[in-house]
Amino acid sequence: MSFPLSDIPLGPKTTLGVGGPARYFWEVASEDELAQAVRWAKARKLALRVLGGGSNVVVADAGFSGLVIKVGLLGVEASGADPIRVRVGAGEPWHPFVLGRVAEKQQGLECLAGIPGSVGATPIQNVGAYGQDVSETITLVEAFDIERECMRTFDNRELTFGYRDSFFKSRAPDAFIVTRVHFLLTPGAPPALRYAELEREAQRLRETQRLGETHAGEGLSVADVCNLVLELRRKKSMSVDARDENHRSCGSFFMNPRVPEALFARVVRELPEVTVPHHVEAGGIVKLPAAWLIEQAGLTKGIRRGPVGLSTRHSLALVCHDGANSDHVLGFAHEVRNAVFEKFGIALEPEPVFWGFGSSGGLPPHPV
Ligand SMILES: Cc1cc2nc3c(=O)[nH]c(=O)nc-3n(C[C@H](O)[C@H](O)[C@H](O)COP(=O)(O)OP(=O)(O)OC[C@H]3O[C@@H](n4cnc5c(N)ncnc54)[C@H](O)[C@@H]3O)c2cc1C
Repeated sequence: MSFPLSDIPLGPKTTLGVGGPARYFWEVASEDELAQAVRWAKARKLALRVLGGGSNVVVADAGFSGLVIKVGLLGVEASGADPIRVRVGAGEPWHPFVLGRVAEKQQGLECLAGIPGSVGATPIQNVGAYGQDVSETITLVEAFDIERECMRTFDNRELTFGYRDSFFKSRAPDAFIVTRVHFLLTPGAPPALRYAELEREAQRLRETQRLGETHAGEGLSVADVCNLVLELRRKKSMSVDARDENHRSCGSFFMNPRVPEALFARVVRELPEVTVPHHVEAGGIVKLPAAWLIEQAGLTKGIRRGPVGLSTRHSLALVCHDGANSDHVLGFAHEVRNAVFEKFGIALEPEPVFWGFGSSGGLPPHPV
C-alpha cells in the first residue's frame, strides 16, 4: 500500500538538479499501485507526469502542479537459452541492468552501458549510443493505458521506433506508463562495432591484446566493447559521476538535426574551407552532428553564462553549476539554439522534456 506525498522537491530527483516541487508525488512498486495512483489523479483532475531516473527532464522553478508518479517496478526475469528473453521492471536502473547482461556474455546492449536512467524510459526515446539502440532488442513493452485504465502490450513494430523517437514519444505522449520491457539478447554473439570512434578504439585494443598474446586468435568480447564504451563516455563526461565537474546535465541537450539536402548545401557554402561531418540518409535527408554545429556557431566547450554553460568535454551537454535554476538553463538553451539558427538556418530540437513551464512548454519549437 502506498500513498501520495505533497510538495516534494523535484530538482534533486533529476540529473540537472534544478526545478521546484511536485504538488503531489507518488512512488509505485506494482501495477496495482500504479492503477491506484492514476485513478487518484484523474478523480482530482490533476495533470500527470511519469518520472524514471530524471536524466532527461527539465523542471521549471515553479515546480509541477499535478501528480508525478515515480515508477519503481523492479525485477529481471530471464527465460530461454539462445536467444535469451529478459523481462525487466521499468524501475530497474538501466546501467546496472546492462552490466548484468554483459557479465552473462549476452549480446545486444553492450554499447548502451553508462547511460543513466531507468529501463522503463528506454523505449520512450529509443535510447541509443555508439551505433546501437534499444529498438534492436526490445520485443515487447507492457504499459498502463491512462485513459482506459488497463494494461496494454506493444510489440516492436507497433512501437514505430525512430531516431530518439517512438510511438510513446511522438504519437501518444503522456498516454501510457511503461511497466515492463522485454529484450531479446544473444549469448556469445560478437559485439556491435558500427561506430567509427568505437571501431578505432577496438582496433587499438586488438593490437594491444595481440602484442600481449592475450585472447590470441579471438575477437573482442561484449565485455571488451562495453568497457571501451564506458571509457569513451567517461572522457566526454557522458556518464553521471558526482566527482566530475560536468555531472549536472541531461546528456545531449539537442538532437542531431536531419535536414534536406538544400540546407546541408547551405552549411557547406557557409564553411568552404571545412569538411562538414554528415551522414546521408534515405530520401535526400542529411544528418548533422549538433555538437559540431554548436561549436561552429562560436560556442565552445566550457563556455559559461553565470551558473550554466557547456560541458568542458562535450559541446552538446548543457551543464548546471552552483546557483543554477531552470531560467538559466532555458535562457542558455535559447542562446545556443539561436546561434546555430542564425549561422546555418537550422533549428535544433531539444532532447529532454520540460515540465511545469505552462503554455510555452519550455523551449518553443523554433528559435525566437
Ligand atoms: C550524462 C547523460 C548521458 C546520457 N547519454 C545518453 C545517450 O547516450 N543516449 C540516449 O539515448 N540518452 C542519453 N541520455 C538521456 C537519458 O539518460 C535517457 O533518455 C534515459 O533513458 C532517461 O531515463 P530516465 O529514467 O532518467 O527518464 P526520465 O528523465 O525520468 O524521463 C524521461 C522521459 O521519459 C518518460 N518516462 C520515464 N519513465 C517512464 C515510464 N516508465 N513510462 C512512461 N514514460 C516514462 C518521462 O515521463 C519523460 O518524458 C543521457 C543523460 C545523461 C544525464
